[in-house]
Amino acid sequence: MNEYHYTPCRFHFKNYVAGEFTASDKLFENINPVDGSIINHVAEADSALVDKAVKSAHAALQGPWGKMTMDKRCALLHKVADGIESRFDEFVAAEMADTGKSLFQARTIDIPRGAANFRIFADMVKSQSSDCFHTDTPDGKGALNYAVNKPLGVVAVIAPWNLPLLLMTWKLAPAMAAGNTIVAKPSEETPATATLLAEVMHAAGIPAGVFNLVHGFGHQSAGEFLTTHPGVDAVTFTGESSTGSAIMKASTDGVKALSFELGGKNAGIIFDDCDCDCDFDEAVAGTARSVFTNGGQVCLCTERLYVQRSIFDKFVAALKDKAEAIKIGWPLDEDTDMGPVISQKHRDKVLSYFDSTKADGATVVTGGGYPVFNDQRDNGAFVQPTIFTGLSEDSKIVKEEVFGPVCHITPFDHEDEAITMANDSKYGLAATVWTTNLQRAHRVSQQMEVGICG
Ligand code: NAD
Repeated sequence: MNEYHYTPCRFHFKNYVAGEFTASDKLFENINPVDGSIINHVAEADSALVDKAVKSAHAALQGPWGKMTMDKRCALLHKVADGIESRFDEFVAAEMADTGKSLFQARTIDIPRGAANFRIFADMVKSQSSDCFHTDTPDGKGALNYAVNKPLGVVAVIAPWNLPLLLMTWKLAPAMAAGNTIVAKPSEETPATATLLAEVMHAAGIPAGVFNLVHGFGHQSAGEFLTTHPGVDAVTFTGESSTGSAIMKASTDGVKALSFELGGKNAGIIFDDCDCDCDFDEAVAGTARSVFTNGGQVCLCTERLYVQRSIFDKFVAALKDKAEAIKIGWPLDEDTDMGPVISQKHRDKVLSYFDSTKADGATVVTGGGYPVFNDQRDNGAFVQPTIFTGLSEDSKIVKEEVFGPVCHITPFDHEDEAITMANDSKYGLAATVWTTNLQRAHRVSQQMEVGICG
């Protein structure tokens, strides 16, 4: 144990509405996925509290926040970043307790980037340009058209559990920098760092009502109360594609502005020109990172691999070695590479994919189950890093997002075949292409039907 040992100091996590921390009679449990213990209780916001949050966010648009200069607003956001950093160890401990992720990851990615988001967007918004163009008109006078950037109003921020502070602040910071007011809902699985953030906002002097935090679930809870609220002007959401679809339907009545970051079933293509010492090693190491980072629970993680046939066996064996070298364990151990998945419920989902993939006749290259520790971690939500081969492109493991530490590897002969298989997906989030041929890198990347290709 070290300074990151987490002892919750609050009886329960409260909502933060209109500048005040607000309790609720309805509490839900905050579970540590490392050992299944209850680390805290969380006050669930009912529809009346969500309504109060939205109304206070509206009122704040007319208050000091609405009249504040951009410089002053952005200086306050810098103070929020400073506030996160001054409580850095508390944020790290809270993120580890909620997610079970490793100390290394929480300390080097989640919390520093969460703080950095406030600085980056506060600085960026100051140099934001806008469009201006001239049009001819029939009277010959012409018209000068120019756009003025204005806040949208009240923005609902709905965040997932995989990178709780980082992904929530990635939405909050630009929205606040642009002058909007916020009602945010973290995932029910990860309420801790969002609650700490509310304390930091309060201490930094963010005016009451500008940032509101409501806890709860999605359907028939705080998430749905928020996205269907007529006073919400825009919704920014990160999470599953099916939830995005539900939110889009729910938002049609008020025609709210929407911004979504959704699921993926990302492909990685590995060409045999990588087959020389350090390039091969780099392709294997990079792919292992891209499959297993954060227990495979990153939207950009690769779950489908296509490897050129001449290096297929060699690549599968090398990735197997990498997977088996991953140290699964306590988040506080400095040498832990991978923690549990987020919850028992999610572990059941991941394991059900493992079972159905085995039943479909896949070859289990490594993993395929869960580790046994013979200590409290057996009550946690750990799964083994897993590699499958041997199934056809229409199988579930190739088609559906698992969001766990798993991939399926398929051989290919020709470039076109790999591109066709990689693009045969209802998702379109990310892809990776491993080659030493620069022409091929550009040619193939540009044919990937995704938002981002590495
Ligand atoms: P999720 O969709 O289950 O939940 C996300 C958030 O939406 C939670 O706060 C949840 O309470 C809320 N929610 C659920 N139903 C709702 C409803 N009907 N109305 C309003 N809110 C509702 O997603 P998750 O399991 O938390 O996260 C994992 C998913 O997120 C994966 O699919 C992953 O690919 C995706 N993700 C995408 C990105 C990206 O940038 N594209 C980043 C991270 C995660």
